[in-house]
Amino acid sequence: MKIVFATNNKNKLAEIKEILGENFEVLSLNDINCHVDIPETGTTLEENAKIKAEYIYNQYGISVFADDTGLEVDALNGAPGVYSARYAGGEGHDSEANMRKLLHELEDKENRKARFRTVIAYISAEDTYPNTDKKQDTNTTNKTEEAEALLFEGICTGDIIKEKRGETGFGYDPIFQPTGYDKTFAELGHEIKNKISHRALAVEKFANYLKSKV
Ligand code: IMP
Repeated sequence: MKIVFATNNKNKLAEIKEILGENFEVLSLNDINCHVDIPETGTTLEENAKIKAEYIYNQYGISVFADDTGLEVDALNGAPGVYSARYAGGEGHDSEANMRKLLHELEDKENRKARFRTVIAYISAEDTYPNTDKKQDTNTTNKTEEAEALLFEGICTGDIIKEKRGETGFGYDPIFQPTGYDKTFAELGHEIKNKISHRALAVEKFANYLKSKV
C-alpha cells in the first residue's frame, strides 16, 4: 500500500519505514514533488498534524499522514510542547540551542519528568494513489470538507537528565532518558528507540488501523 508521509525529515522517514514494514510504501514530500514548507500555525500538536495532512490531501488528493511531536516537561507546565522545534527561537530545528535552553530552564528544578507526545493525523483517499505528475485543482475542490482526519497518539514518558549523553538520534534525544532505562534515547540507538518511542507507539496504533482496513 502506498501512502504519503508529509515530511522530508530523513530520520523520521527511516524510523517510520522501519516500523511500518514492507507492506507499506511510504512516500516523502520530495517523492511526490512537493517542495513546500507547510506552515505549522496550530497551537496544539493535533492542529499541526491536521494542517499538514489536509494541505497535502487538498493539493494532491492522495492518502496522507502527518505527524507532530512535542516534548512536554512537567516543571515547565508542558513546555516546550508544540513549540519544541523553535524553543530557542529563530527558524527552529537548532537542537543544540534547544537543549541548552531546556537544561538552563531546568537548572534549579527537582522535578525532571517529561514526555514525548506524537500525534499522527491520517486522511484516507480510499485507494487513490499518488500521481506525482499532476496536482489536483484546489480552486475547484476542497477535499478536506469531505475528509475527516483520524488521530493516533503515542506517548513516551521519561526524565530530562542534566548533561547530554549519546550520539545517535536527533532533537532532544541526548537529554531524554525514557522510563525504565538508564540510557538516553541517543545512547539506546535506533533499534531500541524505535520499539519504545512516542512515534513508534503512535505509528503502531496507526499501522494496526491500516492493517485492519487492508
Ligand atoms: P516534529 O514535530 O517531529 O518536527 O518535532 C518537533 C521537535 O521535537 C523537533 O525539534 C525535534 O527535534 C523534536 N523531536 C521530535 N521527535 C523527537 C525524537 O524522537 N527525539 C528527540 N527529539 C524529537
